[in-house]
Amino acid sequence: MKRWNGWGDDENDLDFTLSAGALAFLQGLLGESTALPDASLEEALARVPDSRLAPHSLYSVDAQERLRHARGQSLPDWLALRSGELGPFPDAVAYPESSDEVGALMQYARDHEIDVIPYGGGTSVVGHINPQGDGRPVLSVDMTRMDRLLHLDRQSQIATFGAGATGPQVESQLAEHGYTLGHYPQSWELSTIGGWVASRSSGQQSMRYGRIEQMFAGGRIETLGGTLDIPTFPASSAGPDLREFFLGTEGRLGVITEVKARVTPLPQQESFHVVFFPTWEQGLAAVREIVQARVQLSMMRLSNAVETATQLRLAGGAGAVSVLEKYLAMRGAGSGKVMFTFGVTGSAAQCRAALSQARKMARRHGGVSTGTLLGKKWEHSRFRTPYLRHGLWEAGYAVDTMETALDWVRVPQAVEAIESAIAQALADEDEAVHAFTHLSHLYPQGSSLYTTYVFRCAASYPETHARWAKLKAAGAQAIVDAGGTISHQHGVGTDHAQYLPAEKGVLGIEAITALLEQFDPQRKMNPGKLLP
Ligand SMILES: Cc1cc2nc3c(=O)[nH]c(=O)nc-3n(C[C@H](O)[C@H](O)[C@H](O)COP(=O)(O)OP(=O)(O)OC[C@H]3O[C@@H](n4cnc5c(N)ncnc54)[C@H](O)[C@@H]3O)c2cc1C
Repeated sequence: MKRWNGWGDDENDLDFTLSAGALAFLQGLLGESTALPDASLEEALARVPDSRLAPHSLYSVDAQERLRHARGQSLPDWLALRSGELGPFPDAVAYPESSDEVGALMQYARDHEIDVIPYGGGTSVVGHINPQGDGRPVLSVDMTRMDRLLHLDRQSQIATFGAGATGPQVESQLAEHGYTLGHYPQSWELSTIGGWVASRSSGQQSMRYGRIEQMFAGGRIETLGGTLDIPTFPASSAGPDLREFFLGTEGRLGVITEVKARVTPLPQQESFHVVFFPTWEQGLAAVREIVQARVQLSMMRLSNAVETATQLRLAGGAGAVSVLEKYLAMRGAGSGKVMFTFGVTGSAAQCRAALSQARKMARRHGGVSTGTLLGKKWEHSRFRTPYLRHGLWEAGYAVDTMETALDWVRVPQAVEAIESAIAQALADEDEAVHAFTHLSHLYPQGSSLYTTYVFRCAASYPETHARWAKLKAAGAQAIVDAGGTISHQHGVGTDHAQYLPAEKGVLGIEAITALLEQFDPQRKMNPGKLLP
């Protein structure tokens, strides 16, 4: 079973205690810290109020089910779960097994004045699935029993999935037939294909496979006004595309029950590689040249100098890191070096050609290749980073991220502005913040930026939340000021809603509101999310 107050599974006993070296590194930057006390499951359960819904065969009103669907995975959610002070709870949780059952739930919600929150993997980091406590009873519709590959059209390479299939379920069922979707968000272990569509997700290998919007070919949606089937076409000029209504509307138009996705045969080969550049500027110039030359890489990630140093310190194996750093320094990549990780995926010939092109271009910008070990390490730990929050927490530190995307012309200034806004956000308390950034989804037009920040927990939960609120506001405002989108991949939910008008404009927000009202005039679907 999924952990009720953290990442991963109860059975998964991976140990993420910080190494002595990593702890000393953080203490040196931020000062020593003390962990806040965790509430037990029993203590949290004791605070779940009675459901406002009468028991019914369509759903469960069990307190533990309701607690497990009350919060997602944002830092405020983490603080709520760890303190046992969760705020509003859903009144019931349903586990439908078919589109018809979802249709029946929608009918019931319509007839009984109930709000509905579609729930995929609950991995939202922006408050997407949290009840708002606005008066009406709330039904959380958990899609995880609809997890099957329902149909595979090999000729057209379209797979139809129940919308609750998680990343591993999608890939294992496709692999049996020799196919892959290739969508690997870092939350892949727990997030679902319906959630990816509803929140416009982006996977680590989007350079090869595309973002979810390129994969989403059609599907079935149960709305409060009835069922909508979106047929698949390779392309169409027949007016606005209905798929766009559902991509990124965060459960506000209906419950996606089936997703028809574009899949591809499993690649013959795949490998990941690391190159270091002496400076950030050289790294930036190299990755822009590589992506604009359309070199067929499957992923690229350029860490700035602070992230590079942090990753090397936290990696453990101090001896090996010291040898590597000496070698890099001899080749011109000393302090201030930046790490470029990239992947090649495809046929043997495609991988060979892409690898050679990328390395050649990197060399022209001072890049130093490091063999295959660091690439293998990245591949091995690509879904493990979320567990680090546990180790940091036990040492008294909190971690969160902010992300955006901008045109290349704005990227260099934006990295500095966002990182420094976050790093300075607790200056009034004389608290240091350790912030670092990478580019991880690169396009010929521009790039996503992803800033991670670590700070000390305060003496209490409310004070720690207040620190987070200052950091979030500073980072979000810096993103808006830099001309970036408020989210490249995490979505809007509640935490980003106030920043949406800056990029959509008044008329744009009115148009989105009108669209929501068409499907849901009484605002029963996931109210309070997406729009300010
Ligand atoms: C550690 C971590 C790493 C992450 N890394 C990435 C990343 O690399 N890339 C990325 O894109 N995101 C990432 N995320 C964010 C999150 O995983 C994505 O937003 C993901 O798409 C959410 O999927 P989910 O199934 O968990 O949806 P949920 O969190 O359950 O729901 C998200 C939203 O979608 C709606 N929804 C869910 N299922 C349906 C459905 N069937 N029909 C209608 N609406 C639905 C919900 O109502 C809600 O509004 C990360 C999150 C965490 C915690």
